[in-house]
Amino acid sequence: MIIQLEPGCTENQLRVIRASVEAAGYQHNDVTTQSGHYLVCIGTGDFDIRNIGTLAGIQDIHRVSDAQKLVSAKWKVGHTEISIADGVRIGNGHFQIMAGPCSIESAEQISEVAGHLKAHDVRIMRGGVFKPRTSPYSFRGLGIEGLKVFSDICRAEGICIITEVMQSDQIAAMYPYVDIFQVGARNMQNYNLLDALGEVDTPVLLKRGISGTIKELLYSAEYIFSGGNERIMLCERGIRTFEPAYRNTLDLNGVALLKEKTHLPVVVDPSHGIGIRRFVGQMTLAGVAAGADGVILEVHPRPDQAASDAQQTLGFDAASAIYRKSRALREVLAS
Ligand code: PEP
Ligand code: MN
Repeated sequence: MIIQLEPGCTENQLRVIRASVEAAGYQHNDVTTQSGHYLVCIGTGDFDIRNIGTLAGIQDIHRVSDAQKLVSAKWKVGHTEISIADGVRIGNGHFQIMAGPCSIESAEQISEVAGHLKAHDVRIMRGGVFKPRTSPYSFRGLGIEGLKVFSDICRAEGICIITEVMQSDQIAAMYPYVDIFQVGARNMQNYNLLDALGEVDTPVLLKRGISGTIKELLYSAEYIFSGGNERIMLCERGIRTFEPAYRNTLDLNGVALLKEKTHLPVVVDPSHGIGIRRFVGQMTLAGVAAGADGVILEVHPRPDQAASDAQQTLGFDAASAIYRKSRALREVLAS
């Protein structure tokens, strides 16, 4: 059960509401976010919901059978729309393309990509400065100094930034420069990091772990929401299966299911999802057809020379064709 409290709900009213919830045999959790105050109530007992719903201080009350309550589509009217910047919205019918290199490498590389994105009206640039690499000897990113350069160039061009945060103690230093924090697949269940991201007002793109189930992904999103941040996007980026012919298996079933189960926007990452450049275009369109609210693509001016994930990174021409086709497909799907 989710109780949405009125903005002006007083301490006294809250005391009465809590006592009634306890009397019904439910445990309650206070959640205050940027836009709401909720009591998330856990229990199984049967009772007349009107006994609580009519109490002073309550705006709305919802029975939600899902264990991942706040992110469930069962209580919220419509889908969540996240405003990232002026005119840059995702979810609830708004589609966004995010594109850029796997890793930020130099000012020149950032400027080239930003120019390409601007020319194609792509408003969000991706690029890692803290890179989780399988081998400790691989390029691990330019760190906070790289992020400052990334931010300076993109802000001047009116482009938003999405970049990965790997641990909670990086958040404060990164905060002024980031428009969307990306939680990488390896960190989907880093609950300290998720808690800490609940405390900021920056949107979060939460990637599904390589062996994370849909349920676990939703629980992880619930951590961020219950920590106070409602501005969450989920990202399907491929899971590990028995099939070694491609890097990961992009689980588009998951996209369709998530769109039904949650009100949060869902993004598809076909670059990591298949890991093979020549198939990224097809899988992007498949992701759009599955209902994605956005796509995130790895794009580099000289893809073969990319410092990381070169094998799945697109050049500008291939990327431009994918932006165009994705937008056209959205139009067809909406018609
Ligand atoms: C990335 O976006 O470059 C990345 C490391 O993604 P993931 O966490 O999905 O592997
Ligand atoms: Mn990558």
